[in-house]
Amino acid sequence: MSIRNHSRRIAASDGTPDSVSWQDEFAASVRGLVRRNELLSNYTTLGLGGPADIMFEPADEADLKAALAIVRKRKVPLKVIGGGSNLLVGDRGVRGIIVRLPPDLISTEMVGQDEGVWVSYCAGMLSVAAYRHAIENRLVGLEFLPGIPGTIGGALRMNAGGRLGEMADVVEGIEVMRVDGATYIPAQELGFAYRYAELPDSAVITRVDVLLRPAESREITSVKERVQQEIEHRRLTQPAGRSAGSMFKNPPGRHAARLLEDCGLKGESVGGARVSTEHANFLINDGTATAGDMMQLIDLCRNKVRKQFGLSLELEVKLEGEF
Ligand SMILES: Cc1cc2nc3c(=O)[nH]c(=O)nc-3n(C[C@H](O)[C@H](O)[C@H](O)COP(=O)(O)OP(=O)(O)OC[C@H]3O[C@@H](n4cnc5c(N)ncnc54)[C@H](O)[C@@H]3O)c2cc1C
Repeated sequence: MSIRNHSRRIAASDGTPDSVSWQDEFAASVRGLVRRNELLSNYTTLGLGGPADIMFEPADEADLKAALAIVRKRKVPLKVIGGGSNLLVGDRGVRGIIVRLPPDLISTEMVGQDEGVWVSYCAGMLSVAAYRHAIENRLVGLEFLPGIPGTIGGALRMNAGGRLGEMADVVEGIEVMRVDGATYIPAQELGFAYRYAELPDSAVITRVDVLLRPAESREITSVKERVQQEIEHRRLTQPAGRSAGSMFKNPPGRHAARLLEDCGLKGESVGGARVSTEHANFLINDGTATAGDMMQLIDLCRNKVRKQFGLSLELEVKLEGEF
C-alpha cells in the first residue's frame, strides 16, 4: 500500500479536512526533527530496514507530548528506536511514526540515599555513556553495560546484560509516556526475565532510574580493569561486521550458538545474510543483504535446530515493520 493511500486510510474524523494528511498535521504540530520516508537501515546495526513514514526526534518532553496527542487523534502507530542494535526491520519499512529520543531529553539527576545513590538517566542516553557517568561519580553497578551497544531505554526494554550483570539488578523504576500521559512504573511491575521487560503498548520510556553503590578508588580501579577484560573478551569472541548481537535466546540450560554450530550452520548463507564462522549466534549482513534474506536465514536456522534437537529457538532480536 502506498504511503499516500495509507495517509488517507487513517485520516482524522474530528473535523480536520481529509486533504490534510496525518504526516502534514504531525509536522505542523511538533518542534523537533521530523524526517519523512527515512530509511531505517541507517539506524540499525544490522544495516537493514526500509523507510519509516516519519522519524521524529522530540525537542523536549512537551514536544513528545504534542506528538503523542497527534498519535491519539489520528490513530497513527508509534514505535521507538534506540541505538537499533537489537532490531531487524523489514525491507518495506514501518508505517506510522518512529520516535528516537535525543540523549539529553531529560537531564541526569542524582540523589543520595541510605541504600546508595539513586540516578535518573534519560532513556535516549547511550548505555556506555551512563556507565562512564557512574564511574566518574565513583558509583558502581553499571559495569555490565560497556560492550553492549545502544541506549539505556533499549537496554531496559531488553533487560540487556552479560557476565557482569543485567538491567534488572539495578533498575528501581522507569518513567514512560503514552497517549494518555506520563506514568511511573516501579521495577517490581516490569516483569523482568531473561532479555525481557514488560511494557505497555506504544509506551515511550523517557527515564530510567537506577540505584548505584558508592565505591572507594581501589574498587573503581578494579571495576575498570574488569570492564577492560570484558571488552577484550568480546573483541576476541564476537565477530566484526553488521549484526544485532545474538540473534536467538539461549534455550534453558543450552547455548543457542552451540546448537547452531552442531547443526553445521556456521558459514551458512542466504543472499547477503550469513551465519558468522566465529560465533554461530551472530547473523551478519555482508553489506548486500536484505531483511528478507535475513528472515530466510533465521527460518533455516530454526528449522535445522528443531529437526536435529527438537528445540524451538526464540528470537532475541525484535522484528519491526513490514517484510
Ligand atoms: C555487537 C553486539 C553485541 C551485543 N551484545 C549484547 C549483550 O552482551 N547483551 C545483551 O543483552 N544485548 C546485546 N546486544 C543487543 C543490544 O545491544 C541490546 O539489546 C541493547 O540494549 C539494545 O539497545 P538499543 O538502544 O539499541 O535498542 P533498539 O535495538 O533500538 O530497540 C530494542 C527494543 O527496545 C525498544 N526501545 C528502545 N528504546 C526504547 C524507549 N526509549 N522506549 C520504549 N521502547 C524502547 C525498541 O522499540 C525495541 O523493541 C548486542 C548487540 C550487538 C550489535
